[in-house]
Amino acid sequence: MKTLRTDYRAKTVIIATGSKPRVTGAKGEEDFLYGRGISFCATCDAAFYTDLDVLVVGSGDAAIEEAIFLSKFANKVYISVIHDEGIMDASKIAQERALQNPKLHFIWNAMVDEFVGDGKGLNKVMLRNLKTGEKIPVEVQGCFLFFIGYIPNTDIFQGILRLSDRGYILTNENMETNIPGVFAAGDVREKTLRQVSTAVGDGAIAAFMAERYIAETEYFNREFKETRGPQVVCCYDPTNAKSREILSALESLLSQYPSIKLSKIDVYKNKNMALRLGLSGEPCLGLMRDGEVKAVIGLEELSPENLKEKLSPLM
Ligand SMILES: Cc1cc2nc3c(=O)[nH]c(=O)nc-3n(C[C@H](O)[C@H](O)[C@H](O)COP(=O)(O)OP(=O)(O)OC[C@H]3O[C@@H](n4cnc5c(N)ncnc54)[C@H](O)[C@@H]3O)c2cc1C
Repeated sequence: MKTLRTDYRAKTVIIATGSKPRVTGAKGEEDFLYGRGISFCATCDAAFYTDLDVLVVGSGDAAIEEAIFLSKFANKVYISVIHDEGIMDASKIAQERALQNPKLHFIWNAMVDEFVGDGKGLNKVMLRNLKTGEKIPVEVQGCFLFFIGYIPNTDIFQGILRLSDRGYILTNENMETNIPGVFAAGDVREKTLRQVSTAVGDGAIAAFMAERYIAETEYFNREFKETRGPQVVCCYDPTNAKSREILSALESLLSQYPSIKLSKIDVYKNKNMALRLGLSGEPCLGLMRDGEVKAVIGLEELSPENLKEKLSPLM
């Protein structure tokens, strides 16, 4: 990784750059973000608006649930919805609860045009009716935008890591990305629930896998890449009887040829090690010389009787 002054090199990388709340892009927004009137978390900030008026933007489940929560503190909760009257993105149950709540006031076919305030903070949000173009001033001291989604902080990984359609990093359950040794954890990766608890779980898995990756890399280099001379890699599966039989015959045969190094990979437990060598991950023998795989012999071609003949290129 390059910074302005330093070039950092690492044996493995865990990306945890998170995501940021999506904003509306309306005029004046920058002036009121983060603690100055525009908030992204009702649970965190509702109490600041006790007996004041607030606006919620959005009509999905999160927006409606959070608007209901805000109504326990605020005097009035306006909800700006882009759809026609009566249409919301939230579930029917949430909609019914919202429509019965006397503190909630819906403004339909509306979108934010401008945030207006003074040195003390936000005091008005200018909405625009999408059908008529009419400007609708809403006098509020707070506006909640938490409900219109997130943008992952993945710009710098575009074209390098595999990303989902929405721009989140794609990983498997081991937090591995498409690049070996690069892991992703937390809100930045594609997943269902983005919460502190899941981010912490991801982080623990990524750290464990990163540590394992380093240990495996060191073993791989020592055992394979740095070995000189002839070497046989036996990829065996301890649950497969024929594979066990071949391993045993191979050990006995190679005890007579001390110049040929025997390395074993349990592909039932550690397929990755075989894949790193370019082998399939199935039981087989790899004939290597000077750290390079020269030939691969599948289990079906092997028998205890023909082992010596199959290994003859190394003898
Ligand atoms: C307003 C709000 C309220 C929330 N409330 C709750 C809640 O009540 N309960 C809950 O469980 N979850 C809540 N969440 C979600 C929770 O905060 C996240 O799920 C969690 O923080 C994710 O952790 P993370 O480490 O993946 O990302 P983050 O905590 O977002 O950390 C990412 C870090 O990476 C840094 N970063 C970004 N890009 C770069 C870069 N290029 N180089 C270096 N650093 C970079 C960022 O500055 C940031 O410090 C809330 C989120 C928000 C936005």
